[in-house]
Amino acid sequence: MEQPISVTRSNFNDWMVPVFAPANFIPVRGEGSRIWDQENKEYIDFAGGIAVNALGHAHPVAVNALTEQATKLWHVGNGYTNEPVLRLAKQLTENTFADKVFFCNSGAEANEAALKLARKVGLDSGVAGKSGIVAFKNAFHGRTLFTVSAGGQPKYSQDFAPLPNGINHVAFNDLDAAKAVINEQTCAVIVEPIQGEGGVIPADIEFLKGLRALCDEFGALLIFDEVQTGVGRTGSLYAYMNTGVIPDVLTTAKALGGGFPVGAMLTTDKFAPHFSVGTHGTTYGGNPLASAVAGAVFEFINTPEVLEGVKHRHQYFLDALNTLNAEYQIFEEIRGQGLLIGCVLKAEYAGKAKNITTWAGEEGLLALIAGPDVVRFTPSLIIPEQDIDEGIARLKRALAKLAK
Ligand SMILES: *Cc1c(COP(=O)(O)O)cnc(C)c1O
Repeated sequence: MEQPISVTRSNFNDWMVPVFAPANFIPVRGEGSRIWDQENKEYIDFAGGIAVNALGHAHPVAVNALTEQATKLWHVGNGYTNEPVLRLAKQLTENTFADKVFFCNSGAEANEAALKLARKVGLDSGVAGKSGIVAFKNAFHGRTLFTVSAGGQPKYSQDFAPLPNGINHVAFNDLDAAKAVINEQTCAVIVEPIQGEGGVIPADIEFLKGLRALCDEFGALLIFDEVQTGVGRTGSLYAYMNTGVIPDVLTTAKALGGGFPVGAMLTTDKFAPHFSVGTHGTTYGGNPLASAVAGAVFEFINTPEVLEGVKHRHQYFLDALNTLNAEYQIFEEIRGQGLLIGCVLKAEYAGKAKNITTWAGEEGLLALIAGPDVVRFTPSLIIPEQDIDEGIARLKRALAKLAK
């Protein structure tokens, strides 16, 4: 067999559009919650591909679903439906509030579909100018022009003006601020139950209940962006299930495919018919390969054992992190739900989250940041306790570098 082309990390700078700054090693292989790089150095994976690899790496359930489907049918286009996508739609609707699903390939596309649906529902209402979208500061909804505009971090959108208009951003968890801008012209409110990229900040339950009431009062769609919080991440199948608030639209991606790209927008029979044949679409959305993998991953995660296991691991992580923090006094607060955990740096360490994850890499640990001041962990939902222990030991060595 011919040798594959030899590549190094510096080739990234040679050939790749520089929108990312990847670590200085290249992962080549993974198994469970461990990864190996080109030098065969081993890493514990607390990043989980940014809340994606819910079953870790190379889990037999995902590998078998992928390889079995790969020998049958990859893609037929949306002129035909297929068995895996219908099975996945049944799973998603039977296990959530939703009646109907639109499939796509990423979180941004799921939110794009949700926002377009809301605009269409607003148009169909006959209320003049019912196109306003209320979103929150610091929110993250993806990188398409519409979703980056809905997101609440101007640094991601301002360079691409003119932006889609009619989007109003107010402070997260500030119900009065939301009340001041939600009115008859509002077609949607979009919110993350836990702001992930924005720093692992949970929404207050009363805030979400208040948004639900305002959406009901003014006939606006309540969209929960569960791209990061969904598919067991918080210890419930979806985070809305912890809140007592039921959205009109829910978007899900990341963990849904366990590492295979797939996204979905879930909604009800009340709103789905506002999209009709040709209103919206995608080439790859709902393809058999992605749907078969997602179906297997979803079935594996949606069991009491796995979901309880996430809650158990949350406490295990917190105990270990609190013990570390008692020694080093680096974190002001450790927050989040399930296996979406954010460690907020004390003021004297502000801006140092990236240093910690770089040093963690040197010690053999993959970790994430969520803004400059928060170290974030989103590992596999089934990470073994011994891997948590080993990862924490490596984190300890990284924190020791910061503390001195
Ligand atoms: C990651 C993320 C997105 C974007 O998902 P992509 O698959 O990168 O397009 C949207 N919303 C939230 C809450 C996310 O965490």
